[in-house]
Amino acid sequence: MKFRNFKMVGYVVYGRGSFNQLDEILAPQRKGDAPIIFLLDHFFENKPLAKRIPLRGKDKIILVDVSYEPKTTYVDKLAADLKQEFGTVSGIVGIGGGSAMDLAKAVSLMMTNSGSSADYQGWDLVKLPGVYKAGIPTLSGTGAEVSRTTVLTGPTKKLGMNSDFTPFDQIVLDPELTADAPANQRFYTGMDCYIHCIESLQGSYINEFSKSYGEKALQLCQEVFVRKTGWDEINDDQLMMASYAGGMSIAYSQVGVAHAVSYGLAYLLGTKHGIGNCIVFDKLEEFYRDGVYEFKKMVEKNKIDIPQHITKGLSDEQFNAMIDVSLVMKPLWENALGPNWEKIMTRDRLRALYEKL
Ligand code: NAD
Ligand code: ZN
Repeated sequence: MKFRNFKMVGYVVYGRGSFNQLDEILAPQRKGDAPIIFLLDHFFENKPLAKRIPLRGKDKIILVDVSYEPKTTYVDKLAADLKQEFGTVSGIVGIGGGSAMDLAKAVSLMMTNSGSSADYQGWDLVKLPGVYKAGIPTLSGTGAEVSRTTVLTGPTKKLGMNSDFTPFDQIVLDPELTADAPANQRFYTGMDCYIHCIESLQGSYINEFSKSYGEKALQLCQEVFVRKTGWDEINDDQLMMASYAGGMSIAYSQVGVAHAVSYGLAYLLGTKHGIGNCIVFDKLEEFYRDGVYEFKKMVEKNKIDIPQHITKGLSDEQFNAMIDVSLVMKPLWENALGPNWEKIMTRDRLRALYEKL
């Protein structure tokens, strides 16, 4: 048995208002006059947060378009433009939801690794450490702030750059930054965390390390979405820590069926990660009975709409494309269904599942 020796985030600061320490945190990372580049979620254009970014010298804010989940072509362009403009940079800071944070991780890696980010979609393909990178979440749930992957849609697949070079050197967890998120978005991204927990806790890879984080994250999600009525500050604090713990739980474990299936939706239909997971999880009673029951209660209590019939009318070719993308996610299937997963999740069974969505 070989145990995973995993790389974690370098530094973590947590607390309301901790964003104000960013200038001080970044100071020792500055190399000569090479700038720090802030990839800011476009939602914050002209918002007060944009003005609080501590720019020095040639530093630059790039508003990143997260209308679509990050594509390898977008990452390659951002990195190429930066290399052309500055040669080298001192660091990349991603401020936003999972999409902006993933862009920051991927651009950091592509500042030093040659070729296209598509060449590194997979496990442990990245060759060199990237430039210094920091992540600052403004939505809670994905766990992208702690994970060793950056999920990208490439020419042939939706798959992360999973590597020991991928985790951030620094994260700033300031729950104040999530205060403006609309209820639906908060729910979809929050459910990403809830689903991570269910898939990790019920998976075959689970151990006490992952379980201790997964159970805490699950309890915090339940606090926020099952027991509370209305929203107050403490829920932002709780959800931010749920996301962190949920991400830590995955470090030793894996996600499962909902993620594997929703990757296919994202690839073909562009369905975003949080809502896509909700659409799939809603139909997974046969795999995660209790979790799906509680999920439906949360949907009702929080008055959220889960889209239905989104695969209606798709062609055989389109179903096959989703099935192909989904079946590439071998570790997810193995975690969910065990070593004989290929016999359990046949193409026909997966097709029937896609048809239900
Ligand atoms: P997101 O980053 O895609 O953002 C969703 C929307 O919310 C966007 O329109 C964005 O502009 C907006 N937004 C962000 N912060 C806001 C705020 N404070 N107030 C109002 N609006 C705000 O959403 P997400 O669910 O956080 O991230 C999904 C992405 O994360 C996907 O690309 C997915 O692949 C990725 N992901 C990565 C990992 C990982 O481990 N790397 C894990 C799960 C998901
Ligand atoms: Zn997820």
